[in-house]
Amino acid sequence: MSSDVDINAAAGKFLKLAEGHLAAYAEACVKCGQCADACHFYVASGDPRYTPAYKLFPMAKAVRRQKWPLAWLGLAPRLTRDDLAQWEELLFDSCTLCGRCTIVCPMGIDIAGIVSASRQAFVAAGLGPKDLLQAADNARDKGSPLGVTPSVLAERIDWIKDEHEVEIPLDKAKAGILLTLSSVELMKYPDSVAAMAKLLNHAGVDWTLSSKGYEATNFGYLAGEMDIAKVMVERITAAAEAVGAATVVIPECGHAYGALRWSGANLLGRPLPYEVLHITEMLARLKRAGRLKLRPTEASITYHDPCQISRRGGATAEARFLLDGFATDFREMSPTGNYNWCCGGGGGVQAIGRAAELRYQAFKIKMDQVEKTGAKTMISACSNCRLTMDESKEHWKWQGGLGSLVELIADHLAEPEAKPAQAR
Ligand code: SF4
Ligand code: SF4
Repeated sequence: MSSDVDINAAAGKFLKLAEGHLAAYAEACVKCGQCADACHFYVASGDPRYTPAYKLFPMAKAVRRQKWPLAWLGLAPRLTRDDLAQWEELLFDSCTLCGRCTIVCPMGIDIAGIVSASRQAFVAAGLGPKDLLQAADNARDKGSPLGVTPSVLAERIDWIKDEHEVEIPLDKAKAGILLTLSSVELMKYPDSVAAMAKLLNHAGVDWTLSSKGYEATNFGYLAGEMDIAKVMVERITAAAEAVGAATVVIPECGHAYGALRWSGANLLGRPLPYEVLHITEMLARLKRAGRLKLRPTEASITYHDPCQISRRGGATAEARFLLDGFATDFREMSPTGNYNWCCGGGGGVQAIGRAAELRYQAFKIKMDQVEKTGAKTMISACSNCRLTMDESKEHWKWQGGLGSLVELIADHLAEPEAKPAQAR
């Protein structure tokens, strides 16, 4: 561990974070062990270090240091370099912030929330996985974790427009809806961008992209760099206010949705001046209004619930509503919905190179789930899940098909694309 590590800064940050409800969580664990079998990393590896309760230790130690009866005598346990060295992998590589442990915990402990907060203490100490921190820095300095600057955005959008013969409004002066993008989609899954454009145009939605605020992902939030997390929310908000958008739509990305929908106002320091919808919620709204006309598909399909959209996002039913009457051979996994297993790459874990082997192990659970359904293809509504699953599929030479819910729907539009209209 580098000599630049600031132990006191980490200790101070832990103590500050433990002043509120997190301290109660850290002290509430009754060590029943029920969370172990809920965590894909523990189940896939059998390694007791990956038990969710173990990820409470850093915060619990900080609380004890503050609250022990003899703390004022300096007898409380001190944070050490060894502690931090051991905890970094626990708090970054082996927690996707999926929240599955919390639904089985009898004390209702928000372990993902504690892990997320604990990452801030690591950043304060000058620690954390370099590649994840670099992604956050890229987002602040270049506009996106993958280095998609506004000019790269414009070039990419021009290319997608030509390639897919679809209208994609960029920097319209006024629009009711601001669509944001994940740079993972822009650079690796451009079909997903074209699919969203086709669907919104088909339904006659008044929408735009904005070069002022286009990146939906929030790697500042994932890395524990809250100043960067705030910048990302400010950019989207400035873009939405500039065009007068009442709605910001998050693309197929789970953590992007969670960061803006549930933490956006706190990061911004005021209520968000727009509603936040995930693209599946937006499409479900259009379908309910009779604005999405689809041809059914008979392909055998199962759906992977992204943790931040279903379990932690509350939009579990929207994907099913979209598939209902459309995918005539839809097969649910078991467990599914709010209890579905994580892909293994959420919470920034996808961006941590050294965590690849752990991700591959976790994906074995998913392969087994899909095979039991007999479905030929697993679709999802998160490009980060998709990237994780594509890489794991390649690693295991798995034969199962993978795809995107939005792309599947766009491929089955019943009517030709309409020109963008002015009404929402
Ligand atoms: S939030 Fe998910 S990955 Fe993290 S400890 Fe809980 S079950 Fe495991
Ligand atoms: S289930 Fe909850 S109370 Fe039980 S060990 Fe895990 S975190 Fe602690």
